[in-house]
Amino acid sequence: MDKTFHIVTFGCQMNVGDSDWLARALISRGWRQVPEEDAWLFVVNTCSVRDKPEQKVYSELGRLASAYTRGGKGKPGLTAAVGGCVAQQIGRGFFERFPFVRLVFGSDGIAGAPDALDRLADDPGERIALLDFLTAYPEREDVLTLSTPAPVPAFDADAGEPEAVAEGHPAQAFVNIMQGCDNFCAYCIVPYTRGRQKSRAPGAVLAECRTRVEQGAREITLLGQNVNSYGLDSGGANVTGGVGFAGLLRQVAAIPGLLRLRFTTSHPKDIDPAVIRAFGELENLCPALHLPLQAGSDAVLKRMGRKYDRARYLGIVEALRQARPDIALTTDLIVGFPGETEEDFVQTLEMMELVRFESSFSFRYSDRPGVASLRLRPKVPDEVGQERLLRLQSLQNGITKESLKALEGCETDVLLEAPSRRQDEGAHFWRGRDAGGRVVNVRMGTGLSGLDHSGASLCGRMVRARILEAKNHSLLGEEVGLPW
Ligand code: SF4
Repeated sequence: MDKTFHIVTFGCQMNVGDSDWLARALISRGWRQVPEEDAWLFVVNTCSVRDKPEQKVYSELGRLASAYTRGGKGKPGLTAAVGGCVAQQIGRGFFERFPFVRLVFGSDGIAGAPDALDRLADDPGERIALLDFLTAYPEREDVLTLSTPAPVPAFDADAGEPEAVAEGHPAQAFVNIMQGCDNFCAYCIVPYTRGRQKSRAPGAVLAECRTRVEQGAREITLLGQNVNSYGLDSGGANVTGGVGFAGLLRQVAAIPGLLRLRFTTSHPKDIDPAVIRAFGELENLCPALHLPLQAGSDAVLKRMGRKYDRARYLGIVEALRQARPDIALTTDLIVGFPGETEEDFVQTLEMMELVRFESSFSFRYSDRPGVASLRLRPKVPDEVGQERLLRLQSLQNGITKESLKALEGCETDVLLEAPSRRQDEGAHFWRGRDAGGRVVNVRMGTGLSGLDHSGASLCGRMVRARILEAKNHSLLGEEVGLPW
């Protein structure tokens, strides 16, 4: 049997990073990553944060079954593995519903998935579940010395789904610093599906970051459910030797050759003044922060169990803008949380006006199995929630437009990621991001960089661009040279 695989990833950047690691680990064992139609093994890495996550996974598995078994091409021994949050929740239930699913693994179990998949390839009768939670960060085998695998497809059909960036080239790297979460926000399933917070040893984080930079990474994003509480989990101080997130940030920022450093996600209750100061002190720490607000009313924040109020949030914003006046702030918002009144909702609109987020991911609350908010009353009727969501998004669209418009005529450094979908006659456009994380489509060949703008060689190159025009959610620019 030819060991070939194809990975489909739903959800957040942590899932994208997990899929990337799994792909490298399988390749190191002699597996080949191939297009879906050529694969023997399908890995579906799942997310339970958005609406109807189970249904989404069931429909993906159903699609694979009908494409490759019943009336499709017919793929003898079709085999699938399901990982991530939905796998942790449903577990062995997948074996009953989809007989071709032969491995389920949670976020702690992924470290053992490559070995398990080898066993499945050798023994067609075997089924394996890796669902136990561990008490310490499960360090995974080092597969970084491998050349980067093909880009891991990351998608989610939900409108407004946070963009999950596939690691397609080594210039951008995502490095885990922790796993799980201790916060138990009322609406969230993560502490149940990813387990309690487990910080990763700083030495392991730094070693991975250094290797990534040596391999050509220009930008590193440190990942965790709540990076601000790095080292604060039970036993965390022993693992990190007392190093907190601010200390870790400084050590990573000092790696020679690292041009950009980002991190996500931040919980406002845990952000340390030293992390805020770092935005003004560390040159390569990007002026961009995703700081989930969730709601603008203190009463709703309390019911959500967020453990901060609007005054504390606004204080953090003020301190951040003092440290780094050009910082681009983005956020997550939930409307229609149980008990949310029109007055509560208006306070969320007010917060949006006060902070002027550059963009936000906003969602209408819906009950999820297993979360505490399931029991909260009264529920907000769907049509009310939907109407509030539209009002919120319309306000955000206006603010986003204005903030992008203010950048017209400015020059900025853009890290190029891929050829842009926009290709005018006679001009080559490349898509990239500025330090604030904004998408910039750059017309190449107009500047002095001397780069060959027609080929793939521009992936991971940094160019200087002048912003010509603000679009609804992105910027249009032209190359004016190199940044140094
Ligand atoms: S901080 Fe709250 S919302 Fe974020 S992962 Fe933890 S429980 Fe979920």
